[in-house]
Amino acid sequence: MNVLVVTCPDCFEELEISTSDWKEFQLGDILGCNSCGAELEVTSLEPPEFEPLGYSTECPKCGTLFPLSEADLENTRVTCPDCAFSFALEDN
Ligand SMILES: [Zn+2]
Ligand SMILES: [Zn+2]
Repeated sequence: MNVLVVTCPDCFEELEISTSDWKEFQLGDILGCNSCGAELEVTSLEPPEFEPLGYSTECPKCGTLFPLSEADLENTRVTCPDCAFSFALEDN
């Protein structure tokens, strides 16, 4: 079976999708990264391209990239899931 390897734009992990599964995907479909849990929107089928859905940010202390929830965006302060460092989001 052929496998398509795509890179998660959020955590840069390589995700494997079987080509038979990929045929079922359409533009705008959402793929979940099984490494970081980010939701990725299919923006191109050939070649396969994705855009992270929503926002992510990078921890200024340890450099971990993690997705932001709606609630995070509202209160503008977030806590890094990796090192528990709390910081203010920059203007976005
Ligand atoms: Zn990921
Ligand atoms: Zn951190």
